Amino acid sequence: RPVPIADVVNAVADEFRPRFESQEVTFTVDCRADEAEVGGDAELLAHALRNLLDNAAKFTAKSGTATLRCTIPPRKVGDAGTSVLTVSDTGIGIPPEEVDRVFGEFYRASNAVRAAVEGPGLGLSLVKEIIEAHTGRIKITSDLSRGTQVTAELPLLKAAPMTA
Ligand code: ATP
Ligand code: MG
Repeated sequence: RPVPIADVVNAVADEFRPRFESQEVTFTVDCRADEAEVGGDAELLAHALRNLLDNAAKFTAKSGTATLRCTIPPRKVGDAGTSVLTVSDTGIGIPPEEVDRVFGEFYRASNAVRAAVEGPGLGLSLVKEIIEAHTGRIKITSDLSRGTQVTAELPLLKAAPMTA
């Protein structure tokens, strides 16, 4: 089914605004994907996004920042293109030798365990399944001193104006 990706992004962003505010984490949303549609399930995509924002909120301390971005990169003529969703934060980061493992079920990085941040370690494995079920791709980059960035690319059903 066609899912207007901007609607999902903005709805989930609205859900998380009060939480970031109460944690004193500056939350920025930048969604430039008007009219862009992904084929799939809006509720599953919202669930994936919630898991990413939950992680950003959990692993980012007071006075940090979290950003949710959605862009449509330049594409070839006649190609519907992709939408790129990015969730980044200035939180505790992931040790470089562990970053490849965080998509695994029940995996929690050592610094998260040490910081006693709770969670079974299932969120990212579910996010990866949902994105791949939508024929998308997901990757994560992180830096212990700077924070974490998760990027999900989803193929579009319908061409939309280019925004980045
Ligand atoms: P759950 O999502 O099931 O409640 P969880 O958040 O611990 O538990 P995942 O979302 O799968 O599990 O993330 C796995 C691990 O990856 C986390 O425990 C943490 O070590 C690391 N991680 C994920 N996102 C971030 C982030 N934004 N910043 C720092 N570490 C992260
Ligand atoms: Mg999680």
